[in-house]
Amino acid sequence: MDELRLIENQKRLLNSRQLFDLEITTRCNKQCYCCPRQNFQRKNRDMSIETFEKVCDWLPHNCNVFFAGYGEPLLHNNILLFINKLSMKGVGVSLLTNGKLLTAEIIKQVFGAGLERLQISILLRDEVADIAKYVAMCGDTNGKIRFNLIYDDSMLVPFALIDELQSKGFEVFSSKYIIEQMNFMKTIIKEKFCLVELSL
Ligand code: SF4
Repeated sequence: MDELRLIENQKRLLNSRQLFDLEITTRCNKQCYCCPRQNFQRKNRDMSIETFEKVCDWLPHNCNVFFAGYGEPLLHNNILLFINKLSMKGVGVSLLTNGKLLTAEIIKQVFGAGLERLQISILLRDEVADIAKYVAMCGDTNGKIRFNLIYDDSMLVPFALIDELQSKGFEVFSSKYIIEQMNFMKTIIKEKFCLVELSL
């Protein structure tokens, strides 16, 4: 039975639309404790319109694009243009945000430009109080908003919060970070960059 379910899942995956993560900026307006970004050594850069157009031409029509990566996509001045171009091409567009720049007007604008789904990451340790603010600003777009509740091994699974948000029509998933593994990953990234530097 499990094997059958596995085969069904594999078939579903093979038949699903291809998903591309697109990082349009390396800039970020947060310093999350769980992010390996602090160990990156790269300049703050935004993707140019020319580069974006090349990417847009290259992407297949029936794919999904997720504006994500280790940068906050809402910081990019041309985010509405980018969403609109992909949407006009028939691409399913989602955007991952840390929420800091969100307002009711921005939410209206991104969906007006053709966004299909907005995913808001919440670090439960520091930001649980912000959720009510996002819920209030989303208007009738609940069904298009997904919360990613991020907690670590010092916290309990936020079942009550998940239920509450789902009852309001939001999609919710939760991600658990294991602090030791996070620290290990940060060390690896740091070491990797050291090695790159040494080899230059
Ligand atoms: S918002 Fe994302 S990219 Fe920025 S620091 Fe937090 S985890 Fe890293």
